[in-house]
Order: sequence, then structure tokens, then C-alpha cells
Amino acid sequence: MSDFEYDLFVIGAGSGGVRAARIASSHGARVAIAEEFRIGGTCVIRGCVPKKLLVYASRFSDEFKDAGGFGWTLPERTFDWPSLIAAKDKEISRLEAAYRTTLDKYKVEVFPERAMCLSPNEVRLSASGRTITAKTILIATGGHPNVDRKLPGIEHVITSNEVFNLKKFPRRIVIAGGGYIATEFASIFHGLGSDVTLIYRGEKILRGFDDDLRDGLVETMKARGIRIINEKVFTKIEKTASGLVGTITGGETLEADQILFAIGRSPNARGLGLEAIGVQMDPENAIVVDNHSQTTVPSIYAVGDVTNRVNLTPVAIREGQAFADSVFGNKPTLVDYTTIPTAVFTTPEIGTVGFTEQEAKNQYGDVHVYKGSFRTMKAILGGRDERTLMKLVVQSETDRVVGVHILGPDAAEIVQTAAIAVRLGAKKSDFDQTMALHPSAAEELVTLREKWMAPGEAAA
Ligand code: FAD
Repeated sequence: MSDFEYDLFVIGAGSGGVRAARIASSHGARVAIAEEFRIGGTCVIRGCVPKKLLVYASRFSDEFKDAGGFGWTLPERTFDWPSLIAAKDKEISRLEAAYRTTLDKYKVEVFPERAMCLSPNEVRLSASGRTITAKTILIATGGHPNVDRKLPGIEHVITSNEVFNLKKFPRRIVIAGGGYIATEFASIFHGLGSDVTLIYRGEKILRGFDDDLRDGLVETMKARGIRIINEKVFTKIEKTASGLVGTITGGETLEADQILFAIGRSPNARGLGLEAIGVQMDPENAIVVDNHSQTTVPSIYAVGDVTNRVNLTPVAIREGQAFADSVFGNKPTLVDYTTIPTAVFTTPEIGTVGFTEQEAKNQYGDVHVYKGSFRTMKAILGGRDERTLMKLVVQSETDRVVGVHILGPDAAEIVQTAAIAVRLGAKKSDFDQTMALHPSAAEELVTLREKWMAPGEAAA
């Protein structure tokens, strides 16, 4: 019998923590988990899942608009924000309960309170004041949204934590940020009928994504009526009788019912007692781990956003699984961080896997690029001018497809499948030999034949 009360104590019942707890238990470990908010974590409670539900809600406006082109006449539409939020809340509660049932089924003891580390093998529960011993501790505390604390009037803004539970629909919203969360909310609120302004301090939104997709998305968002202001930030925010007024660099003022800050996230690593026991942090306050997710204190591991590796749910889940299999299942497993597919659920959406054109050039020097830009059948009859963009980046020397980038309807769904081919090292000739599925938008991926040349290149 071990000297410890548990073999594993997990702090944080989000994507990574729940997976690790469940798998460790399935390997025979005695496991407990502490959660200070709601079981399921960011993704389930106030991240991916509620966001995608709002994305679906926002896209009905396009369907209604396009329906006329297909012979439908619709009655006047109205939208009720409280009904949407109530439906979303019901689904989130259902999922939270399902997570709880899973933990119970795997006999993971749940402590619904904040926890911190007292020593390499002791955890302190804040509310009950209890101290618990465990052979191994896993930190899976995720991250939190950043705000500019020094900005005058910052107390008036909301973040992604609050946006899902606004009582009143914001008719006018200004969103600060240029990453995927900011752009997704810009599309969501625009689709639901808000007047949307996106303000971003950088030159172009969605840093790190392929430039063609970034340019295509900016063009479409603007054409749809979203105002995008680049290279400016808020200098102050004031509350007035009619809402909020934000002043931006240069002196322009922006009026809004809500101002949403989506300017990045930081790890929840401070205040957990970790520094005192020798767990190393990096300059961005993320917990430093090796490729087995082990920290500088051997009995303490960390997975997910708190380590700031790749901050996505499937990655946190894989890290939790690999940790539990390695430490409790006698199956040493490393997470493969190559070819992670990602999406931006704007409207139209982005799906992407592998290297951007620029990254591939930096990596391999010579690359071939294949691009197709077209209006889908649905867009044509719907009277929609928007073009879908598909792009393949191919390493010239080997003919291997090293990047697939799509801007258009269902991009995320298509890219998830393409990611298998990219991971398996498929060549452009494999794509070419794959029979097209007709009529579909995705068939463009296997029918792109002409190498794309930059204007200068073509003339040479
Ligand atoms: P989390 O899921 O954040 O879980 C951490 C848990 O720890 C939380 O429940 C927290 O309450 C708890 N906790 C913190 N400190 C303590 C403590 N001291 N004691 C007890 N409990 C504690 N990812 C995608 O892959 N796709 C998407 O579309 C996507 N959309 C997103 C949209 C938004 C708006 C946001 C904010 C995030 C989105 N993400 C998305 C990112 C995704 O949510 C995270 O990468 C993922 O949740 C990380 O999982 P985790 O286990 O590291 O942490």
C-alpha cells in the first residue's frame, strides 16, 4: 500500500485534466481531481463548444439571404438572444453532467474547489482547508484571457469569459484583437445582426496563418460590413448614458454597447505554490515541461494551456492521454506536434494544416504552390459573390504536400480529412490520382493542376 492518499491528484478538470484522470484510473491508479469552476473546463464551458453553437446561430442569416435564390420566400425574421443563450446553457449543462458521469464511472474523486501545491507531494484545497497527499500531481489549470490592465476604463470591457452570458444582445460591438477568437466573435456578432468593428494593433489579422487566407478573409469580412481598423489600440474607454465610448490612437472615438477584449491568453500557473517548490516557469508564466510533460520537480507534471505549447483542446487531450499512459499504463508515449490541423470559425471559415507558403519556403527553399479560387454552386444561385480559396503547398524536391489551406464553407471539415493525407506524407501526384467526388467543393483539392506563379515568375 502506498504512503500517499492518491496515486494521482489532478488540478483542473478541463480537456487535459479530465482525460488524464480518466485514463490513469483505467490503468488502476487511485485518482482525485479538483475544479474551482465547472467540470469540462474552458472548451466545454466558455470556449470551443459554446462558440461553435453561436457560430451555427450566426450563419442562419446567410441561409435566409441565399434561400431566395433557390425559390424560397421567407416570412420576416427576428432573432432572440436570450433564447439562444438559454439553449446554449442547456447544452453546456448536459455536457458538464456527462463529464461528471465519466469521472464518477472511472471512480475519480472530485473536489469542487480551488487547489494549490504545498510540496512535491501535497495539495492544499482552498475552501475546505484540507491537505491531500499524492504520489504524482498533474497541473492542468489552463489559461485566462488577457486584458490591458493599465488602460483607463478597462473595467468596462468584457472578455470571452463573459461574452457567452450577456443578458442583452449588443447592437454595436467593438472587438479588440486579431487572433482567432477576436475574428470569430466579429463574424458571430455580425451574423447575428450587430454592427461590428474589429480593432487590431498589428498590420494584418490572424498572424501565423497563410497570407492568401488572411487577405481573402479580410476582404470578405470587409465586404460583409465588418469594419477592421489596423495598427491602432484603445487609449481609453468611458461609460456614457448610451453605452461605451472608446478612444483609439489618433483620437477617433468608437461607440459601442459592448467592448470585447480578445488580445490573447496567458497560462494559469501563478498562485499555485509552484515557484516555492521549484517548478520552473518561462518568461510568459507558462510551466516549463520536457517532452513527457514532466516539470523540473519530478513528481509534478503539467499538460494543456498552462504549458503554452499548442493551445488547442485536442492537443491538451493528447497530452493528458500520453501522460497517463506513460506514467500509469507502462506505455511510454510522446505527443506528435507535427501537422496539427486548425480552424478559424469565421464566416467564411478557415481550415489549415501543415506549413504556410512562407514557412515552407523558409524550411525547404523551393516549393510549388497550387491555388484555386472559385464560387461554389451554392454561392452562385444564392447570389453571393464570395469566393472559396483552396491552396496546396508542395515541397518541390519530394513532391510531398506539406500544407493545405482552405477559406470557404466547410473548410474545417475538409481539412480534418486532408490532414490524414498530409500526415502520411502524401505527394501531389497522390492527390492528382485520387478520383474527384463530384459535385463538391473539396474536389478542387484533387483537380488543381496548374502551378501558381507569382507575376514576375510567370514572365521569366
Ligand atoms: P482548460 O480546459 O482551460 O481547463 C482548466 C481548468 O482548470 C478550468 O476548468 C479551471 O477552472 C480549472 N482551474 C484553474 N485553476 C485551478 C485551481 N487552482 N484549482 C482548481 N481548478 C482550477 N480550442 C480548440 O481546439 N478549438 C476551438 O475552436 C477553440 N475555441 C476556443 C474559443 C475560446 C473562446 C477559448 C477561450 C478557447 C478556445 N479553444 C479552442 C482553446 C481550448 O479551450 C483550450 O486549448 C483547452 O480548453 C485547454 O485545455 P486545458 O485542459 O489545458 O485547460
